[in-house]
Amino acid sequence: MRIKTKLNLGVGLLFLMIIILSLVSSYSVFLIKADTENILKANYNTLEYSRNMLLSLDEISHDTNHAIVTFKENLEKQTQNVTESGEKKETDNLKKNFLLLEKNSLDEALKTQIRRDIFAIMKLNMNAIKQKSDIAKHTAETANLWIAIVGTLCFLIAFNLLINLPNNIANPIKELTLSIKEIANKNYSERVHFTNHNEYGDLAKSFNTMAQKLQEYNDSNLYKLFFEKKRLETLINNMHDPIIGLDNEGIVLFANDESLKIIGLKLEDVIGKSASTLALSNDLIRSLILKEDSETPKKQPLKIYAHGKESYFEKEILNITIIPTGEEKEINIGDVIILRNITLFKELDFAKTNFIATVSHELKTPIASIKLSLQLLENTKTGDMNDDQKQLVESIKDDSQRLLKITGELLNLSQLETGNIQLNIEKSNPHKIVIYAVEAVKVQADQKQIKLVIDADENLSDVKADSEKTGWVLINYLSNAIRYSSEKSTIFIKLKKESNQIVFQVIDTGKGIDARYKDKVFDKYFQVPGSQKSGTGLGLAISKEFIEAQNGNVGVESTLGLGSTFWFSLKV
Ligand code: ADP
Repeated sequence: MRIKTKLNLGVGLLFLMIIILSLVSSYSVFLIKADTENILKANYNTLEYSRNMLLSLDEISHDTNHAIVTFKENLEKQTQNVTESGEKKETDNLKKNFLLLEKNSLDEALKTQIRRDIFAIMKLNMNAIKQKSDIAKHTAETANLWIAIVGTLCFLIAFNLLINLPNNIANPIKELTLSIKEIANKNYSERVHFTNHNEYGDLAKSFNTMAQKLQEYNDSNLYKLFFEKKRLETLINNMHDPIIGLDNEGIVLFANDESLKIIGLKLEDVIGKSASTLALSNDLIRSLILKEDSETPKKQPLKIYAHGKESYFEKEILNITIIPTGEEKEINIGDVIILRNITLFKELDFAKTNFIATVSHELKTPIASIKLSLQLLENTKTGDMNDDQKQLVESIKDDSQRLLKITGELLNLSQLETGNIQLNIEKSNPHKIVIYAVEAVKVQADQKQIKLVIDADENLSDVKADSEKTGWVLINYLSNAIRYSSEKSTIFIKLKKESNQIVFQVIDTGKGIDARYKDKVFDKYFQVPGSQKSGTGLGLAISKEFIEAQNGNVGVESTLGLGSTFWFSLKV
């Protein structure tokens, strides 16, 4: 039954019972009142008239007229108030006897007869009063019974409503509240179980449908997520580069097959384990999780034995950050370590370096013999040359000198790249290195009438350096400065001590370098666009390698159009 109907029925029934109760009570009161009025009207008045007639009868002998009038009046009233059976007959007898008495008021026997008649009437009415009183009593008892019955029914209904109705309404609400809480806690399998055919039944049905749909939605999302996870895992697994994922506490989340191959462990041995714990027993993992900071000079490729040969990998650690929904600050959720297999490039690079080394080495000897032949040609013993021939020889000398420089640079570079650089580090006098370099470029400077000014203290402390390589670097700085300076300018060579190092500076007032290219001039094969193409773009790159191999630093300050200051520093 619907709650509304239940409530309507309950309250309506109660209301009806109250009305019935009041009707029964009023009706009973009415009946009792009618009975009492009936007694009063029908019998009590007769007794009153009878009493008056008896009194008048006693007065007749003293005050005849007045007594007869009174008697008559009362007899008349009695005649009008005949209510009981037999009363009419007695009243008629009384009337008849009274008529006789009027004629002879002193007749005592008649008086006695009249008294008897009056008493007979009184007795009739007394009996009637008793009878009617019994009826009234019975009416009152019946009324009491009905009132009790209806009252009890009212009480039972009210009691039933009081006990059942609040529970009927509150219990399903309680159950529903608990279920809603469960759903809010993502327990979508929760259902309510009141199946009554009332409003709560409808509510339960709707709630269960909602919960089922939420469950389906949740399951489908989970499936989707699971599917996407699988897809990503497959994608990562199929990648040829080794990839390892760590959470923000360094726990390994995933590792693809390639990575497992190179670290030589099984998936179950790494997943869920701390990378730093694994690093204790696995050197490779240790070098993988090692983060390079800005102070680490340069990224060295990792040499790992993989795919049956020595392979080279470039390591990249990607820090993964996200901005959680509703928040503004980024949080770190872990790292992904990617190893790029650069073996092929390394092999090609190696082949190139070998080729350069061989070619430059093979070229050196013929160029040297060309230079020797040129010297012989210049010697007068081999015969005089005319001016044109002298100029040609001069030009061949310049070119062979340049070729020698280029082959020298290429040879240096190949030595650097193969790691075959031999350093002869010893305590060297920086001033002496400067003098040596200045001497070496003197001819070149003279050709452009450039003044080389040394600004250096001869007594500066020695530096720990390979003086030959350092001299080579300074010569390279100086020949660049001469090359990119205008004729008759001045180039300063400065030496100064800064904390525990000596700084070598070559200051020119040449064309300078555009700020865009400042950071690139030390890169291999880089030449500032628009500059003389005579060089190889290797001189500064080799200089940097030489100085860094000696734990020094290089750098340049330059303003386009005003000149440049190339410097390098070495530890004392
Ligand atoms: P290159 O053999 O081409 O000179 P370097 O490595 O010695 O190669 O120099 C790289 C580039 O730096 C040059 O091409 C040149 O443009 C620029 N450069 C080097 N030194 C100077 C300088 N003193 N003034 C202006 N530009 C210079």
